[in-house]
Amino acid sequence: MDVLQNIDIGLLVLDEDFNIQLWNRFMQNHSALSPTDVLGKQLFDLFPELPEAWFRRKVQSVMVLRNTAFTTWEQRPYLFPFHNYRPVSGVTEYMYQNSTIMPLTDTTGNIKNICVMIYDVTEVVANRLQLQQANQELYVISRTDGLTGLFNRKHWEEALNSEFRRFVRYNHPCTLLMFDIDHFKRVNDTYGHPAGDEVIRQTASVLKQSIREIDIAGRYGGEEFGVILIDTDAEGAFVVAERIRAAMEKNTIYHESHVINYTISIGIAELDAAMTEPTMWVDSADRGLYRAKRAGRNRSVVFSSGERD
Ligand code: GH3
Ligand code: MG
Ligand code: MG
Repeated sequence: MDVLQNIDIGLLVLDEDFNIQLWNRFMQNHSALSPTDVLGKQLFDLFPELPEAWFRRKVQSVMVLRNTAFTTWEQRPYLFPFHNYRPVSGVTEYMYQNSTIMPLTDTTGNIKNICVMIYDVTEVVANRLQLQQANQELYVISRTDGLTGLFNRKHWEEALNSEFRRFVRYNHPCTLLMFDIDHFKRVNDTYGHPAGDEVIRQTASVLKQSIREIDIAGRYGGEEFGVILIDTDAEGAFVVAERIRAAMEKNTIYHESHVINYTISIGIAELDAAMTEPTMWVDSADRGLYRAKRAGRNRSVVFSSGERD
């Protein structure tokens, strides 16, 4: 009995009517109910929070099958709503529990009682949840460009490849914009590199405000950006591109004592069946961008596969 009392596991014994026959110290400490408070009383009267129907079914099957049943915190975070007093921060208000329900056979071989064991697994769960959260954060960091918060090039290119494959299967229109800040070297040379960084940051933020949630924007290189416009043909994309371009032109940046204005040039390419590789799609948008620069910058130019030599 001493062992049962002092073990760091919750132990209770119930009869067929769910009256409590044994209540060890773990149960006493965590429920703040002493054996005299609970012995002979019905479990569900004392703990109305218990999932009664579920628990009855579980006990029924233990008695009929004469088998031990297990439940884990993944199925049900806890059976008894005990507060969690462990110094693990921010995980849960309640103690996570695994439990075992075991049939007790008497001397005549009948099962009149069952034993329930409660294991406190809060620490294990806390570690697991913290690990999951850390992995989630790492995943986000691994795909994000640090300066702008847009997708980084690697992740953006993966998205581009999957849009390319989707087009091959479903043939939905999809258009790529590649743009580059005009005369950006001058910004760096005139106002300094930190001012240049600020222009890049704001370019990304203006971009995000100018596109839809489903469009995929990434930082392709230093001051070059790519945007995949889902379900959009070249004509529609031109309208979007002009809106982005005008928003950049209007955006005045105040950095330290400087007032900076800037423009961008945009190349536009709609995905088409002549493109057999994703790189051909990027190359077309790049050619549009090159033409926009040559034609005097601060403009959007569509390049189509038909114009290829
Ligand atoms: P163009 O109109 O032809 O695009 O002229 P440009 O001066 O913008 O020329 P280009 O696009 O070739 O120059 C890009 C410059 O951007 C070169 C590089 O020093 C600068 N740059 C690249 N990445 C960063 C960055 O993260 N921060 C800052 N401040 N500058 C960058
Ligand atoms: Mg450039
Ligand atoms: Mg440039």
